[in-house]
Amino acid sequence: TYSLGAKISNWDEERSLWLTRNQDFPNTVNGKARILLVTGSPPNPCDNAIGDHYLLKSIKNKIDYCRIHGIEIVYNMAHLDKELAGYWAKLPLIRRLMLSHPEVEWIWWMDSDALFTDMVFEIPLSKYKDHNMVIHGYPDLLFNQKSWIALNTGSFLFRNCQWSLDLLDEWAPMGPKGPVREEAGKILTANLKGRPAFEADDQSALIYLLITKTEWMSKVFVENSYFLHGYWAGLVDRYEEMMEKYHPGLGDERWPFVTHFVGCKPCGSYGDYPVQRCLSSMERAFNFADNQVLKLYGFRHRGLLSPKIKRIRNETVTPLEYVDQFDIRHSAQETS
Ligand code: UDP
Ligand code: MN
Repeated sequence: TYSLGAKISNWDEERSLWLTRNQDFPNTVNGKARILLVTGSPPNPCDNAIGDHYLLKSIKNKIDYCRIHGIEIVYNMAHLDKELAGYWAKLPLIRRLMLSHPEVEWIWWMDSDALFTDMVFEIPLSKYKDHNMVIHGYPDLLFNQKSWIALNTGSFLFRNCQWSLDLLDEWAPMGPKGPVREEAGKILTANLKGRPAFEADDQSALIYLLITKTEWMSKVFVENSYFLHGYWAGLVDRYEEMMEKYHPGLGDERWPFVTHFVGCKPCGSYGDYPVQRCLSSMERAFNFADNQVLKLYGFRHRGLLSPKIKRIRNETVTPLEYVDQFDIRHSAQETS
């Protein structure tokens, strides 16, 4: 049967020994757990050039968020394991990064079609000190409804530890391309509410694993107090209203942390929504976030659909006042 690699069983001991021997590579940064954000896209160009443009906007958005919050970032375009191509590619990648970066405490996977839309909000890590996985979802949809959208694997965190390696081992077997993935898809569709008939995907496989082997749940934090993943369709038309009523830093429906374009496939040839609706919605999400970044520099977009920007304050001979006032890193420090 399929395996992600040589079975590792003593990672916690090995890693902690490594950390004591390599004090120059601590698992914290300025007192906070070290986070590595991981994202990526297929090795080849998109079917449409516009898809590549939105991949570029998406990585720019992530670089901005990560720079502001002291998070490292990896962009992967390789298929580390041919068998686990497509949406399954994140599994061998996450495992490889855990083993190659013992200094990283949390690996945070984020899809290429997910954008940060709250540049101020920070993951409340102290809340998860007794957990090893953090994922957006709803316990009722998971355990009572067994819904295939109970959890979303577009943005989730894994602690770098033995438990996570073990979970990846249990999660991967439905992934191999071809007959295995096809047959597993039938099991998932038969068992998960609302799931259309198609090959096994990583999200359904995780949900199925957690509802059939509930002992895993003791270390899984199902988060819905803020949008670690936020479904785009309910959010993108409300950005103006949010700007009028609220402010960044809330992370929830008032100012969503992440807007995820599930079902939009600007890089591929088919999707569940009209391409134009997807592209203009992505443009709005990108500019909504970019306004929060540009504020420090004294600019904003002319509108949420416009790549053009305008000045929002005059040049000054005392620029440091604006640093104190507008640098997100300062306010982020105060609230943590
Ligand atoms: N992905 C990748 N390499 C691939 C195919 C997909 O890195 O060859 C990543 C990419 O970041 C993508 C994610 O896998 O966003 C999941 O796929 P997608 O967003 O299309 O799924 P959806 O969220 O729409 O279900
Ligand atoms: Mn996605």
